[in-house]
Amino acid sequence: MAGGADEPVERLIALMARLPGLGPRSARRAALQMIRRRALLMDPLLAALSEVATTVRECDRCANIATGPLCAICADPRRATGEICVVETVADLWAMERGGAFGGAYHVLGGVLSALDGVGPEALRIPALVDRARAEAAREVILALNATVDGQTTAHYIADQLAPLGVAISTLAKGVPVGGELDYLDDGTIGAALVARRAI
Ligand SMILES: [Zn+2]
Repeated sequence: MAGGADEPVERLIALMARLPGLGPRSARRAALQMIRRRALLMDPLLAALSEVATTVRECDRCANIATGPLCAICADPRRATGEICVVETVADLWAMERGGAFGGAYHVLGGVLSALDGVGPEALRIPALVDRARAEAAREVILALNATVDGQTTAHYIADQLAPLGVAISTLAKGVPVGGELDYLDDGTIGAALVARRAI
């Protein structure tokens, strides 16, 4: 690769360029910045990478990314509210946490049911969810799955599996985002918002 730097530096740039959100140009700028600000950026980054690489694992309970048997959320007794929020991916869990509105625990499925991609219930963490809801005597299971056909199919399947437990099951309201302008919403969102309308 002819980028003007020595091979090890070019190798670093090529690896960084494979990260989401970083193309070759951004990777080159980021690498240059790290090299220039070694004490502030490169050394701490190296230490953080090394620590995460040796400690990162899946939370035994919810499958969030953790550095011990339980993630920080599962290890927090204040989060033991009897509410379990079911999400497709760790990225979705983190998005919910950024929202800051949920105080319970999570359960990461690892995907959604998909006939097209051959993903059946056994490939997801649905049996573990049912076992967990029973063992923890959960009060409510909130299905925060994406509003895709597969997401909604998965939500219905999970609701059927949980029905014998008698636990309350809910889904996220679908509607107009806070600060959202109708003009910028897709038709599906507006349609769902209309269907879920309530009296004021
Ligand atoms: Zn956890």
